[in-house]
Amino acid sequence: MNLEMTLSPAAIAAAAAQLQMDIEGQVILPGEPAYDEARLAWNRKVTQYPAVIIVAQSAQDVQTAVSFARQHNLGVAVQATGHGNIRPADDGLLILTREMNDVQIDPVAHTARLGAGVQWGAVLAAAQQHGLAPLLGSSPTVGAVGYTLGGGLGWLGRKYGLSTDNVVAFEVVTPDGRLLTVSATENKDLFWGMRGGGGSLAIVTSMTIRLFPVTQVYAGNLFYPAAMAPEVFRHYRAWIANAPDELTTSVLIMNFPPLPEMPDFLRGQSFVMVRGCYCGPVAEGEALLRHWRDWQAPVIDDFKEMPFSAAATISNDPVDPMPSFNSGAWLRELSDEAIDALIRFALGSSGPSPFIFTEVRHAGGAIRRVAAETAVFGNRDAELVLSVVGIAPTPEAQQYLAAYMRDLQEALRPSLTGGVYMNFLEGVESQQRIRDGLAPGGYEWLSRLKTQVDPDNLLRYSFNVTPA
Ligand SMILES: Cc1cc2nc3c(=O)[nH]c(=O)nc-3n(C[C@H](O)[C@H](O)[C@H](O)COP(=O)(O)OP(=O)(O)OC[C@H]3O[C@@H](n4cnc5c(N)ncnc54)[C@H](O)[C@@H]3O)c2cc1C
Repeated sequence: MNLEMTLSPAAIAAAAAQLQMDIEGQVILPGEPAYDEARLAWNRKVTQYPAVIIVAQSAQDVQTAVSFARQHNLGVAVQATGHGNIRPADDGLLILTREMNDVQIDPVAHTARLGAGVQWGAVLAAAQQHGLAPLLGSSPTVGAVGYTLGGGLGWLGRKYGLSTDNVVAFEVVTPDGRLLTVSATENKDLFWGMRGGGGSLAIVTSMTIRLFPVTQVYAGNLFYPAAMAPEVFRHYRAWIANAPDELTTSVLIMNFPPLPEMPDFLRGQSFVMVRGCYCGPVAEGEALLRHWRDWQAPVIDDFKEMPFSAAATISNDPVDPMPSFNSGAWLRELSDEAIDALIRFALGSSGPSPFIFTEVRHAGGAIRRVAAETAVFGNRDAELVLSVVGIAPTPEAQQYLAAYMRDLQEALRPSLTGGVYMNFLEGVESQQRIRDGLAPGGYEWLSRLKTQVDPDNLLRYSFNVTPA
């Protein structure tokens, strides 16, 4: 029955009253007091006006919501935190998973079973109580599932690989409403396509991941004056050429805003920084840092032994919601020309912009050693990934940042592989560049899978995969 194509918002509201009786969670409609808070994403740049919002409590709620969406011809969007929006959930049914936040650690099997809405900080805290660590990224408030579906590159990445390579199983609701287990032995095609292919094939209701025995690390940041950026980038290039897998690092240019709440030594200042985490024996981590300490004394040196439970302090990513522009690309190398372009753009010809942050992260190691055909995640051979984050409070700022990124990519062209890391993109760019984020031939396979499991493109707000 597809009569509902013509249903008005008022008719959807009437149908939603029945939906509210059928689910444990909450149904929220436009005009209701809770609507304006529920439609927010962590990324405040996103404005979205879903026809219906569901705050799901269980896999059964998700199944019921999917069936409602099919009946009423609504697309389905899923949001845990709104850090990684691809397409605003306008006119669709938005499932918020934020209350499905159960974390169960199995200290014997070294695994964790996570509800769909769990944020990494909660997993880290629970796992560390058992001397274990998940493969979280730089921010504790990013959602574990969204991060993992896009790949998942964090401070233990070179040693243990991507988060997506360490999924034991997903429990999912398919676009036709079935509840399935997806793993290396069950529904293998979906398992291949969901690891790097985003949420375009099914809705994850829980995920079981592997954990690793990491409790103490040698980690932190080195700050050098921005004027030293050319030498620091070149010294970084030499450092990572021989880095062991235990060492995952990045080099970045940080322009601290001139805000009164900033400490004096940071306010309005620019630095070139080296940050990272060594997860082997602490003495070896300390020895690796001699490359820097014996070279030039940093202005600030806070590399030290620390508990991995404090991993979020390595990057100190913003926790509070903000309007953020995110872009990036895989780099083949840090050539002299690429270094010069990165620095020229990050520090600006008319002075550094406090609203743009440029980081190059070192990948490779265990990420690279996984065979390309294991999952649809692509670009495993590239070892350096550029991430550009800008604060974009207005449409003008968004346009400025998009143009800035286009110009930067043009300047970097000889060193770009042509690939992108989907987790570092959002919005229109992530819709347009999905093919460049996947393994060779990956898009075509994903599109065929999509035809089988979601021919009507119900999950049309996630990675942009069109049924064949
Ligand atoms: C401050 C910050 C720091 C970051 N650091 C890192 C990092 O260190 N490493 C890294 O790899 N990435 C990083 N990212 C990128 C991040 O991994 C992506 O933005 C990711 O998509 C966020 O997932 P989320 O669930 O928090 O966001 P959401 O916006 O809630 O979800 C993102 C997308 O994932 C899909 N999705 C979410 N839940 C489900 C589900 N249950 N079923 C199906 N699909 C689902 C949806 O398509 C959704 O649009 C960072 C982003 C930010 C803003």
